[in-house]
Order: sequence, then structure tokens, then C-alpha cells
Amino acid sequence: MSEQKYLHLNDGSRMPIVGYGTWMASEEEITFAVNEALKVGYRHIDTAPVYLNEKAIGNVLSKWISSGKVKRSDLFITTKLPPPGADRLDLVELTLRNSLADLQLDYVDLYLIHTPFTVVLQENGEFKRYEDGTIEVDPSTDHVAVWKEMEGLVAKGLAKSIGISNFKEQQIERIRQNCTIQPAVLQIEYHIYLQQPHLIEYCKSANIAVTAYSPLGSKGVSGLNKMAGVERELPDLLDVPVVKEIAQKYNKSEAQVLLRWIVQKGIAVIPKSTNAKRMRENKDIFDFKLDVDEVEQLNSLDANVRVVNFSFFRG
Ligand code: NAP
Repeated sequence: MSEQKYLHLNDGSRMPIVGYGTWMASEEEITFAVNEALKVGYRHIDTAPVYLNEKAIGNVLSKWISSGKVKRSDLFITTKLPPPGADRLDLVELTLRNSLADLQLDYVDLYLIHTPFTVVLQENGEFKRYEDGTIEVDPSTDHVAVWKEMEGLVAKGLAKSIGISNFKEQQIERIRQNCTIQPAVLQIEYHIYLQQPHLIEYCKSANIAVTAYSPLGSKGVSGLNKMAGVERELPDLLDVPVVKEIAQKYNKSEAQVLLRWIVQKGIAVIPKSTNAKRMRENKDIFDFKLDVDEVEQLNSLDANVRVVNFSFFRG
């Protein structure tokens, strides 16, 4: 089946529609996993300073590039401007330069503002918290001013494309009305239980590509919730009767059906796995196509349930 495997971004670059997510894996796991991901053919890798793994990823990338196993130009590397620092305009470039040093790269293919808010830091650099442990948020970030700094990164050749993550329509629109470079990508949580149709429609009309994070429901997030003292029952996206039925029909796994459904909508996916077999499986979604009824059945599962709930950031 001939199928487009890239999304063409509004700035002329292209992003592989299936990428590899790297959140919540130890340095050791990620060294193995990124190496394995490159072996099975992933060329789009998603990271962020808050995942604390850029150095480990950089070591793997450097080995692959210097040995000639992969060309830098064949890779699509995304990282993000973290919440602490996103309000300090003088830190935007420095923060990306730190990521580039850790990733051992001269530029990233995509730099995203990780969240529309930032957090209050104490003098010792730790997050300021309320008595219940929740983190104090600074909602006063001037997105337009931060975006101007992001544009400067493109001018300096440090980022090929720039975008946002976890932003709402009004926040994106304000940037769009006051920018020179339009946001190329919005990265958001997206899966059968959280479809945000208005936001997706808006992005389509604004020519902003969408990347779906946690497309499989991010099982690992329950560990993070526990650490943050958040008790939440999370839905199991791989255990849904209609998903199972469709998977059986095509002789594919439930994960492949969930990913195929997203990619078929022209949305990129960045599933994370530290298991080589599942990594391969998550990429192998181009030899079957869901029919209109199946897409509709999956669309009808939308329940507005957010798995990666930022409730430990108060407000
Ligand atoms: P996810 O990719 O939806 O789910 C990952 C979980 O699914 C892991 O527990 C993994 O376990 C399991 N899994 C992977 N492939 C599988 C398969 N074929 N069959 C069964 N289980 C499978 O969740 P995520 O890591 O939250 O999201 C993906 C990426 O999006 C992140 O890694 C990160 O790069 C990005 N992200 C961005 C933001 C943001 O704010 N911008 C937020 C969250 C995530 P195994 O490892 O054992 O396979």
C-alpha cells in the first residue's frame, strides 16, 4: 500500500508521522531503547529536558552519526522549552543550547514550548510547592514574547521548526496574530478517549500539524501520579472490545489499531516503548487501513478523559 509516511509542515520541512517517545525511561533503559528504535527504523525522536534523558539520547545519536549508520539530515529530533525558564526570555536560547549540548547536535528539527504556563522556582532551584505538595504555577507567561525568542532560534539555525505543546486554541491564536513564523506543530494528548475535535479542526484550518502524545494511554503515568500523591484510576486503551475486534479482523495488535486510527487522520504519533518487539509493532502500521465504519466506531469512544493530568500543577 503506498502511504504518505511524513507530515509536511507549514514551514516546508517534513516530519515522520510515526516517531518514538522517550518519556519515563531511565538513562539505562533509554540508551538501550533509542539504540533499538534507530535499529528498527525510527528517525523521529521526541524528548524534553524534563525527561532527564537528553544526555543518554545524545550519546546514542552521536555514535550512530559518527559511525555513518545514520545521517543527521535523516533524523527528526524534537525537544522542548521546559516550564521553568519559559517565562525568562533571557533563558530561552540558553535552555535550547543546553539541550543541544546534551543531545550533541548543532540544531533540533523541532523545538516546542512544553506548556503554556511556567512554575515558580525557589532560590535553591526547586519547584515552589503548596502544603499539599502541589506545585505553584506562574500563569503570567507572555506567550507572544516567548514566541519572539523562539523565532530567534530559527533565525540562528538552532531550530528548524518551532511549535507549542499543551496550548489551547485561544493561546495559539494569540501567537498566530502576533508572529512572523507560524507555529508548525501542536503536540497534545490524543487518543480514543481524548479526541478534542474542535482543537483538531482549528489546527487543520490554521495549517498546524498535530502530534499525538500518549496515543496508547500512557500506562507509565500511573507511577508518576503515585509519586505526586494523585490517586486516579486510568482507562486501559488496549482492553476495549471494539479495538480488540478490529485488531482481530486485521490480525494486528490493539496498539497498532490505536496508532493506525490516529495516523489515518493525518496526525503524527510518538508512542513510547522500551521493548524492541513492541517498538517494531508500533511502526508497522502501514499495511492495513481502517474502513469508514471502523473509524467512526473508534471516534464514538471519545470521553474527554485526560490521562496525563497536570493536576499536580495547582491552577
Ligand atoms: P504511550 O506512548 O501512550 O504509552 C506508553 C506505554 O505503553 C508504556 O507503558 C509502554 O510499555 C506501553 N506500550 C508501548 N507500545 C505498546 C504495545 N505495542 N503494546 C502494549 N503496550 C505498549 O505514553 P507516553 O509515553 O505518555 O506518550 C508517548 C510520548 O509522548 C512520551 O514518551 C513523550 O515523548 C511524549 N509526551 C509528551 C507530553 C507533553 O507534555 N508534550 C506529555 C506526555 C508524553 P513498554 O515500554 O513496556 O512497551
